[in-house]
Amino acid sequence: MKVSKSIDGGSLTGYGCGGRVDKLIEVETRQELSQIFKESAKRGDEVSVIGGGYNTLIGPGGVRGILLKLAGEFSLIKVNGENLIAGAGARNSELIAVAVDSGLSGVEFLSGIPGTVGGTVRGNAGSGQESVGGRLVEIECFDGEKFIRLTDLKNSFSYRKFNLPSGYLITEAVFSLDKSSPEIVGNDIASRIANKKKTQPFGQNCGSVFKNPPDSSAWELIDAAGFRGYSMGGARVSEKHTNFIECLPGANEKDIWNLIKLIRKKVYDQCGIKLSLEIQLLGEGFD
Ligand SMILES: Cc1cc2nc3c(=O)[nH]c(=O)nc-3n(C[C@H](O)[C@H](O)[C@H](O)COP(=O)(O)OP(=O)(O)OC[C@H]3O[C@@H](n4cnc5c(N)ncnc54)[C@H](O)[C@@H]3O)c2cc1C
Repeated sequence: MKVSKSIDGGSLTGYGCGGRVDKLIEVETRQELSQIFKESAKRGDEVSVIGGGYNTLIGPGGVRGILLKLAGEFSLIKVNGENLIAGAGARNSELIAVAVDSGLSGVEFLSGIPGTVGGTVRGNAGSGQESVGGRLVEIECFDGEKFIRLTDLKNSFSYRKFNLPSGYLITEAVFSLDKSSPEIVGNDIASRIANKKKTQPFGQNCGSVFKNPPDSSAWELIDAAGFRGYSMGGARVSEKHTNFIECLPGANEKDIWNLIKLIRKKVYDQCGIKLSLEIQLLGEGFD
């Protein structure tokens, strides 16, 4: 395992800014994970987890206790017939690459969705009508003491949500895919990526900030409230996609948080809809 102290939270998220993290542990084996939890329980340290950080805003007050990042054996991906068995620390891009090489179809919708398998399962990430929960047949979790395999996933997923019991960590996910060919899967991915490039901004961001409320879309509400291109400090509502907040050079996590609060207030005042966050808040200082 690799332990780093007083890390700049900005190095861990897609926004490129965030408060300081007291202790980051890159954990490589199941044995290490068990050990870390045993010791932190004795010391009373809080333990949280981050994947690629592409759906996370770290608060201005930073993160106390231990922040885990899964690496080593948690980054492995194995092919078993038409199933992919992926460690929670594996990157979505690697998962897609293995699927293409194996001529397996079913995770193309993750193209252009950066992050790790753990973060992606946690938030039931997806695109259009497809989301990751629809392809999962088994998930291995760690409950702080032991590893558990969840196999009845029928009612576990909803829009950008996985009902993971509090305190559980996802350590592995089994995807059930369909036989296809590398050419067909590869072409589909190329066209999805081309489409994303047309509709989404580049640069430092964490994708959609808010969930779509029932029967409307967050970007339309934000646009109608006059926020297209609006900036606060170094945080700017994207011109290309108004549900994205981009970080300009010099932006900090307070700028993002203040902009989020302002958008929520104005959209609520204007149309009575309370936007809920799709991004996850980590750490302290969200007043
Ligand atoms: C350009 C861009 C486009 C995007 N497009 C999309 C899109 O189309 N659809 C979409 O759904 N998302 C999209 N996103 C958001 C993001 O890519 C996804 O949410 C992705 O799944 C995040 O994965 P991550 O590993 O980075 O998660 P993180 O941000 O690291 O973590 C997210 C949450 O999951 C928790 N978590 C992480 N790992 C674990 C684990 N092992 N066990 C338990 N909890 C864990 C974290 O504590 C946190 O609460 C986009 C982001 C960007 C930057």
